[in-house]
Amino acid sequence: MQKRRCGRTGLDLGVVGFGAMRLHGKDTKYWADIVAEAAEAGFNYFETSHRYCNSTSEEKIGAGLKGFRDRVYISTKSAPRDEPGADDVRRAIDESLKRLQVDYVDFYHLWDTKLHEFENIAARKGGTLEGIRKAMDDGLIRHLGITTHDTPENMIKLLATGEFEVVTLQYNLINRTTESVIEEAGRRGIGVIAMGPLHGGILAAQSPLFESLVRLGAGISAAEVAMRFVLTNPHVTCAISGITSSDDVKADKAIAENIKPLAGAHLAALVKVFEDFQASNGKVCTLCEYCMPCPQDIWIPGVLTLANAARLLGLVDEARRQYAAFAKGWTDSGGQAPCIECGHCVERCPQGIDVPQALKRAHELLK
Ligand code: SF4
Ligand code: SF4
Repeated sequence: MQKRRCGRTGLDLGVVGFGAMRLHGKDTKYWADIVAEAAEAGFNYFETSHRYCNSTSEEKIGAGLKGFRDRVYISTKSAPRDEPGADDVRRAIDESLKRLQVDYVDFYHLWDTKLHEFENIAARKGGTLEGIRKAMDDGLIRHLGITTHDTPENMIKLLATGEFEVVTLQYNLINRTTESVIEEAGRRGIGVIAMGPLHGGILAAQSPLFESLVRLGAGISAAEVAMRFVLTNPHVTCAISGITSSDDVKADKAIAENIKPLAGAHLAALVKVFEDFQASNGKVCTLCEYCMPCPQDIWIPGVLTLANAARLLGLVDEARRQYAAFAKGWTDSGGQAPCIECGHCVERCPQGIDVPQALKRAHELLK
């Protein structure tokens, strides 16, 4: 697998990383075999958390990576709002190490941390950061990172604190709002891990847009075009793929071994497809989930993603099928999302999406 230098950490990570957020169910051995297969195949960045998969992901990763410790990098994380004190996070770190069956992790991320949470929870005296720094002094963590869905302006402020050697953020053909952050990370020698390179899978779907993606990518799959787009950015170290099977390992290995930047003409044409889509359909939901929770329990990113999949990719039948599953719980509102227009989501959406209107448009399209 091709590798890239992760900023000033000096570590070389495979261009596709193993995302361990979907190792659901089955027994530990089943997933451990897939993790081991990935390590054999050349994956060397394994990304987990103490909460993934009902807190079983670390155990599955740890079991799979036995015997590979000297050639892989393990990243785990916790959120300051869940572990607000130095002692709290130390407990979480100790438990993670135990589940992973390792003496140290290569990367520890502050998980889903906004600027205000960093300033008011993590960085205060006796807070999360103090506990992590102590764990680093004790040799339990090698490098500190942050994952965040904050606004680009706030992400840049987080990088400017000088605390982080790596940042994990969402970046793909549909969500390019983080490009300024990625550039700033590159300027500061901070490694960049891209999450969601396939935007929850919709960029890899077989669809009417698929043929055009393949053509633009010179005969490669839609997933590979989407991955290549992310990795065409020279400041991106690695794109995380949420592995669900042995077949995913094989497919990602094939992509990662041949990855090369999209050529200028292809890149420009590809970007234009998505810009034209956004121009004709307005702002596109990036799945950041800032708008959640909704007091009416509407899974806003889910509904808007189905509308995106129908409009952008032409996956109308599949989107309607999935929308019907949401609508089953909405009988009191005639099958529509029971939005009371409280405005909570609109205030929070960094894309400026008029969510109540977008939900109505989604209903018209998908009912
Ligand atoms: S405006 Fe509607 S969708 Fe948005 S938070 Fe309020 S009830 Fe939920
Ligand atoms: S509607 Fe806005 S805030 Fe909610 S997930 Fe989509 S982009 Fe994020």
